[in-house]
Amino acid sequence: MKILVALKQVPDTETKVKVAADGKSLDPADVKWITSPYDEYALEEAIRLKESAQAEVTVVTVGDDKAKDILRNALALGADNAVLLKGDGHGDALAIASLLAAYAKDKGFDLIFAGNKGIGGDNAAVGPMLAELLGVAQANVVLKFEVTGTTFKAEREIEGGTEVVEGNLPVVMTAQKGLNEPRYASLKGIMAAKKKTIEEVEVAGLGAATTWSALTLPPSRPEGRKIEGDAASQAKSLIGLLKDEAKVI
Ligand SMILES: Cc1cc2nc3c(=O)[nH]c(=O)nc-3n(C[C@H](O)[C@H](O)[C@H](O)COP(=O)(O)OP(=O)(O)OC[C@H]3O[C@@H](n4cnc5c(N)ncnc54)[C@H](O)[C@@H]3O)c2cc1C
Repeated sequence: MKILVALKQVPDTETKVKVAADGKSLDPADVKWITSPYDEYALEEAIRLKESAQAEVTVVTVGDDKAKDILRNALALGADNAVLLKGDGHGDALAIASLLAAYAKDKGFDLIFAGNKGIGGDNAAVGPMLAELLGVAQANVVLKFEVTGTTFKAEREIEGGTEVVEGNLPVVMTAQKGLNEPRYASLKGIMAAKKKTIEEVEVAGLGAATTWSALTLPPSRPEGRKIEGDAASQAKSLIGLLKDEAKVI
């Protein structure tokens, strides 16, 4: 069985992102980069299948040289092959899905895993678009995934319940938080990953259908206010503020 896992490099959730001077892109200075957390679930699922069903796991990302870090980390966790589709990774979801589809086409992947969304971009679109472009089945926002022979069964999170979908391989599956508990890389894995080769494929002309025209951060929140006095006067002041200032009661 051949599994492809699409990984996206994103700013660490702890990073305080800044908008660049052009007002429509991120300032990359001081950003710590990580694997998008939903992609970690996708990768863990692939590695578990490798362990139970002798699969070969390939990880792929569209990005620049610094994106090799997440590929190296995936190799340390147990991926067999890593591919960098070398571009700046700044196309829209359709452009990224098109590049991934062009890479995956004709390579015989039975399973293609992705995060259900890339944090920061939050389009939740690359996986479904990739399935459409490849003309294969898709199961999105998946909490439980099983493969039996040439078929799959997936439990999906839907509003107020769970939906079970089944179909034939190949399939694109996008992972939801809770699909599994991602592992940490072992020292042995980290050392072995250093010796592995990352395949680099130059990609050009993302052909994005949309571009970022403006990027703004939410307005900063006003400072909190401390209400002094005993409990009764604090409660009285609080009610007054909620009524007259915040106008919520
Ligand atoms: C630092 C930064 C700067 C950016 N700057 C720009 C910009 O200036 N202009 C602009 O138009 N766009 C920019 N983007 C957006 C970027 O191109 C997005 O990757 C793209 O739009 C996909 O959006 P998404 O993460 O919301 O996709 P989603 O559909 O939410 O992603 C779902 C899944 O698809 C896979 N995936 C997504 N992206 C990739 C990838 N690159 N490689 C492999 N798999 C992937 C992952 O498995 C991911 O979990 C920037 C993104 C980042 C992180």
